[in-house]
Amino acid sequence: MSNEAERQILVVHLLANDGLCTGCRAWWSRLTPYPCWQVNWATSRQARSMTAALLGGRA
Ligand SMILES: [Zn+2]
Repeated sequence: MSNEAERQILVVHLLANDGLCTGCRAWWSRLTPYPCWQVNWATSRQARSMTAALLGGRA
């Protein structure tokens, strides 16, 4: 369930040609420099579960 949320964020929040986040502009009409905090959140969560998997845990 959390993995799905992270994936959806990363699908929508992409780097635009002008260096801004496309997801934040589309959803909230906000001009947010990429990576926005949502991308940072999703990528840090993915990195954490990847690290846990490498250590032999079942994240
Ligand atoms: Zn964004």
